[in-house]
Amino acid sequence: MIHYCEKCEEYTLKEVCSKCRNKTVNRKPARFNPNKNYAKERLKVKGFL
Ligand SMILES: [Zn+2]
Repeated sequence: MIHYCEKCEEYTLKEVCSKCRNKTVNRKPARFNPNKNYAKERLKVKGFL
């Protein structure tokens, strides 16, 4: 489960932020969508070839 510190705006695996000791919330990192990155990489490779 991935946790998110809203104060530091950082993702962590801990329930309490290691930086500010703030309680983190459960959240999936939208910006790290593997399918999106994969598609982007494929396009990049295709254009390169
Ligand atoms: Zn924090």
